[in-house]
Amino acid sequence: MAVTRLAASDEGVRRAGAALAAGDLVAFPTETVYGLGADGTNPRAVANIYRVKGRPADNPLILHVADAAAAEALAREWPDDARRLAERFWPGPLTLVVPARAAVPAVVRGGLDTVAVRCPSHPVARRLLAAAGVPVAAPSANRSGHPSPTTAEGVARALGGPTTPDVTVWLVDGGPSSIGVESTVVDVSGGRPLLLRPGGLPTTAIEGVVGALGTPAAGGPARSPGMRYRHYAPDRPLVLLAMDPEAAVAALAREGARDRWPKARSGLLAPRRIVEAAGWPAAVSLGDSPHEAAAALFEGLMTLDRWPGLDRLVAVWNNQEGVGGAVMDRLERAAAEVVQA
Ligand code: AMP
Ligand code: MG
Repeated sequence: MAVTRLAASDEGVRRAGAALAAGDLVAFPTETVYGLGADGTNPRAVANIYRVKGRPADNPLILHVADAAAAEALAREWPDDARRLAERFWPGPLTLVVPARAAVPAVVRGGLDTVAVRCPSHPVARRLLAAAGVPVAAPSANRSGHPSPTTAEGVARALGGPTTPDVTVWLVDGGPSSIGVESTVVDVSGGRPLLLRPGGLPTTAIEGVVGALGTPAAGGPARSPGMRYRHYAPDRPLVLLAMDPEAAVAALAREGARDRWPKARSGLLAPRRIVEAAGWPAAVSLGDSPHEAAAALFEGLMTLDRWPGLDRLVAVWNNQEGVGGAVMDRLERAAAEVVQA
């Protein structure tokens, strides 16, 4: 499939808007990660997103809109909690699940009677939404199950290749995504709001507006189908050390000299202090804060996954503060094994 790049100029964004109208796919930057977009009113175009990603048909997509009024137009009901959260946090990294109007194509909703809506803040995404004039259905621009790209280069690497030759993909290059993990998804479609996915907007900020969030009942109907699937995984097996710095440095020193994670063949993704203390040859820093870690996370996983001579990866993270909770969630889902202190 050919991926054709466009600059984020007026002309590039205009061409991307026209491509959406013609039923093509457009990968575009948002503040969370890059999205792979289609005209959300065109079921055939939306179906191509699933084909290109290899995404299970029952994993619904988020509709991206320019403002809360456009989101409300897609909803059968616009609950009070939706109004309050949209007023406080849009545009931004928050997705709301609300009852869907029947006019929202079933392929977007994964067959559910709800729809996920988000108003992104990235200036290029906002210009593209204005040019498109329709809701844009967009999941992350990776192949299903793999880390989400946060740069245009990452999208080109993830989506390039011989699959789905009949689909045209355009790629608007807007530089790196500032947040680096996907949006927080909250279900406000009935009763107490539920946290379906931690993400770029810290849960505590949302709870400050609507009170404590519930979590979907285990074993009940799938409220967030996407969370059932394997996610974010690099090709090489990843071990997550969910440990404080001291314990992690000790474990890395011990195991780095042995068979489990020999440092010559293992890549390390960890907060800067730990990377410096460990001194492994293949290492990527997650910086000094949860915010820096989120921004570095997916690109770091993919960098280590391409690093020559490695056959396993080790990540260190144990911080739920702010966006740290989303970093933990992504690493737990990416990991083949989680080791606690
Ligand atoms: P992605 O676009 O790849 O970041 O994934 C979107 C996430 O939103 C997935 O976890 C979906 O399961 C979730 N989602 C989208 N639409 C709905 C919906 N109607 N109800 C519940 N979860 C949804
Ligand atoms: Mg995704």
